[in-house]
Order: sequence, then C-alpha cells, then structure tokens
Amino acid sequence: MARIIFLGTAGSSAVVNKQLRSSGGIVLQLEDLQFHIDPGPGSLVKAKQFGVNLHTTTAILVSHAHLNHCNDLNAVIEAMTHSGLEQRGVVVASKSVVTSIDGGHPFLTKYHQNLLERVIPLEKNHKVGIGLVEMNALPASHTDKTAVGFKLYCPRFTVSYSGDTELTKDLVEGMMGSNVLILNVPYPGDKAEGKNLDANSALQIISKVQPRLAIITHFGLEMLKADPLEEARQIHRATGVPTIAATDGLVITPESFGEYKGPVKGYN
Ligand SMILES: [Zn+2]
Repeated sequence: MARIIFLGTAGSSAVVNKQLRSSGGIVLQLEDLQFHIDPGPGSLVKAKQFGVNLHTTTAILVSHAHLNHCNDLNAVIEAMTHSGLEQRGVVVASKSVVTSIDGGHPFLTKYHQNLLERVIPLEKNHKVGIGLVEMNALPASHTDKTAVGFKLYCPRFTVSYSGDTELTKDLVEGMMGSNVLILNVPYPGDKAEGKNLDANSALQIISKVQPRLAIITHFGLEMLKADPLEEARQIHRATGVPTIAATDGLVITPESFGEYKGPVKGYN
C-alpha cells in the first residue's frame, strides 16, 4: 500500500524559523520507490521521528529554491548515498535549485551533484519517468520564476502537489485527473500575498478538479491563527470533496480513496 507521509506542514519563514510546524517536506512511498518532496529544514530529524529511512530514497523532488523547500537537499543526498559510499538516486528540481540563476549559488552543491546518478532540471510542462511513475511539471506561478509543481502518475492513483503558486487556469488544467491533491495554502480566506494560495483559491481549485481527497498544507502564521482545520472544513462543505488539513507526521494511503471519476462537466 502506497503511503504519503508529511514530515512538515510549515509554510512561511515565521512558522519555519520558530518551528511552530516542522518543515521536512513530504515523502511518497510506492512499492520499492521513495520520493522526498521539498526537503526543508529539519528533514533528517523528522524522517527519524516519523519512521522514514532516507537511505532508501529513490528521488528527491524540489519545487523551487526557497529555503523552506530545499534547505536540506544536500543533507538528504548524504543520507541517500551513505555520504557518497554509493553513487545513487535522482534529483528532479526547478532550474533555480540545480543551476546558477542570475549569478546566484545553486542550492545543490557540485560535490553532492557528483554523488547522484542523475540530476534533472525540470521546466514547466516537462515530463520525466522514474521507475513506475511518470511525472509532469505543473506550471506554478511564484516569486521564483522557475518554480514547478509535480503531478505523479502512479500505477493505481495520480497525485498532484502544487508547490508554491498562485491560482492560475493553467495550474487547474494541469491538475485535472488527480485522485489526490496536495495544495500549499499559506493564507486563510482571501488573504493571499506574493503569488501564493489562500483558502479561497484552494476551494476553487478543489471544486474544479474534484479529486477523491484534497490535503491543504504549508501553513503561514495567519493560517495557523485562523485554524487550518476550520478552513479545510469550509472547503469540504462548499465542494463536497473530503479535505484534510495536514499535521506533522500525517500518513495518507492514497489507494484507499478510490478511483478518479473524471473531470467535472462544464469546466473549461
Ligand atoms: Zn516559495
């Protein structure tokens, strides 16, 4: 049975800095594959706490170069490769994480790049295959212009992770057909700032995509004050789609939510 494990649910620097929620990213385990998505600060600690063995990681997926998404990338590579004793694993990431943009230093060091089997810089709408999983880069629209989200076509379900993005028509289109939606929603109500989602825009995405399960995560201070649980309940009531507010250590078994029935009629 596939599992999605939340090693963190923090979504703003204030929440990350004080570790009001942890920030170790999201792990997807599927047969003999393990994907670590957005390994932010504390990934190693949280993996240990929540029973994830990082040495068995197959691929690390990084949506963009903001610290709470990629800070522990090199540390997870060390864990995955036994500090370079085994050359293995793949990094699939936005260009900003693996290459130098505007003279900036890429988060992935040259040393750690050499410990890997492969590095794949992912641009919006690119497709990549890893084992049984086909992956599409979702077109995120964020302050990191190279940011992407991930849509993972697994044999028995499809899961989309928004990454950090504002609401766009292209994003919704790209997410159609997902059984499980994971949305980064740092802001409550209609209070989004700086190319991010708020609960209202999450509601619009969820009502159009109609997944079997929606999970909101990546919470900022205002969202924590408003209570993510309450925001998720409102989305559930308005859309009819079961919607969960992620907590640190949450484990989801995506196959238990049934198959996707197709997009809602009338959406274009
Ligand atoms: Zn960001």
